Amino acid sequence: MELKTLLDDGVYLTEAADIAKYRVDIVGDIESTPRGVMRPRTTEEVSKIMAWCHTNNVPVIPQGGNTGLCGGCIPKDLDSAVILSTDRMNQVRDLDVLGNTITVEAGCVLADVQKLALDANRFFPVTHGGQGSAQIGGNLSTNSGGNNVLKYGTTRAQVLGLEVVLPDGRIWNGLRALHKDTAGNDLKQIFIGAEGTLGIITAAVLKLRPQAVSRETALVAIKEPADALWLLRKLQDYVGETVSSFELMSKNAVDTYFSFKPEARNPFNESHPYLCIMEAESPSKFFDLRGAFEAALEEAFNEGKAINAVIAEADQHRMDFWAIREGMAVAMVEDESCLKSDTSVPVAQIAEFVAKTTAEFERLVPGMRATPLGHIGDGNIHFNGQRPFDMDKQTFISHWDKLKNAVEDISVELGGSVCAEHGVGRIKKKAVARVKSDVEMDLFWTLKKALDPDGICNPGAVL
Ligand SMILES: Cc1cc2nc3c(=O)[nH]c(=O)nc-3n(C[C@H](O)[C@H](O)[C@H](O)COP(=O)(O)OP(=O)(O)OC[C@H]3O[C@@H](n4cnc5c(N)ncnc54)[C@H](O)[C@@H]3O)c2cc1C
Repeated sequence: MELKTLLDDGVYLTEAADIAKYRVDIVGDIESTPRGVMRPRTTEEVSKIMAWCHTNNVPVIPQGGNTGLCGGCIPKDLDSAVILSTDRMNQVRDLDVLGNTITVEAGCVLADVQKLALDANRFFPVTHGGQGSAQIGGNLSTNSGGNNVLKYGTTRAQVLGLEVVLPDGRIWNGLRALHKDTAGNDLKQIFIGAEGTLGIITAAVLKLRPQAVSRETALVAIKEPADALWLLRKLQDYVGETVSSFELMSKNAVDTYFSFKPEARNPFNESHPYLCIMEAESPSKFFDLRGAFEAALEEAFNEGKAINAVIAEADQHRMDFWAIREGMAVAMVEDESCLKSDTSVPVAQIAEFVAKTTAEFERLVPGMRATPLGHIGDGNIHFNGQRPFDMDKQTFISHWDKLKNAVEDISVELGGSVCAEHGVGRIKKKAVARVKSDVEMDLFWTLKKALDPDGICNPGAVL
């Protein structure tokens, strides 16, 4: 039977105009010519599609919001594949305020889930620059991180239950809202972070948290990354796990943002080697976060660990700080010659990582702009790089491989990972193969072959 006849009208798209937005990745690096795009509305439709693809040996590439930065949802050089988009699977199946859970389908947009939680006087903590388009299925499949990992953990830590359609079309309903369940292995963990290589996530039970009623955010100018770590520890000594974000932005990254958005307001009159955003929040109004911020900053000034600082006085003020941090990531996604990276090291090694990589970039491409930015509190700095002002884009791109290898080598040498929060997708496979042991690769393949023996689930990604 033909796939088209198995499904309702509008589920299977093949016209060039209809599939245009699904076949190219967000960065514009990877294009594809899939045989079609599936837009199922229900888990049962996903099941039918997978069963048919299993029988007919057709590769399936799951796609959420297509904001992933590793090309995982695009079937590069795989014209026989279909893209399975979850963009119409966006029902909220349950919102349980007493139990603090929300059960959503994979296609719900992250920002919408955050808003639903807020409207119910709850909080869903996964927050990152792609949230306006990224979908829950994509967040789960990449185990995305973002700005609140310090306090709440990555996406994995927000999940109680999952529903998954397996490569042969069977539906696994693991939508349990249980905090304790030791009845065998925790199967949902296999699918979280698997980037669509083991099945299609169709729905999830997510944990909600109490909403913060007090929050403090400061933008601090510092000389070097080690000062940011000093400040982070100081703040954690004072207010412990209320510290939710600690972000680092290099001068070059800040300059990139203000040249991309010249109308934006710069809170400081002069430029500084690094800025950091520190934020803490609590559901209790009896917690003196402001006192802790003032004390930590005063000590930082006395010890020469801070050059300048401003604490947000209103929500708009806070959003202005975050606009700098999120806007620089967008500016770098839009600059197609900007080298992007996503590695991590143990937090204590961050200063050494930044110093070594800055020096290595200058040695490899003199005059290039090192633009490190990111989640310093998690040891995850995106060590990006931009071309020297007098170098054309293509020439700079020709240096990418050696620059990428340098970031990855330095991260691994310092005990880190080559993929911190964006996943492996299609563009980081070589990096993973370079650093994982044979035993680890063997375990990955054992899982893959057991669950997807015909290799129809996102072939070409991760493994
Ligand atoms: C400006 C910007 C800033 C960003 N900042 C961050 C950040 O701070 N932290 C961070 O972690 N990420 C960040 N990202 C990356 C991105 O937003 C996340 O990786 C996000 O989780 C991807 O979600 P998506 O729905 O767009 O997934 P997609 O890009 O569509 O897919 C990602 C992967 O998941 C698979 N997949 C998607 N849906 C499913 C499903 N239902 N079942 C099985 N597999 C599936 C795909 O096949 C692919 O391999 C940023 C992106 C942008 C553009």
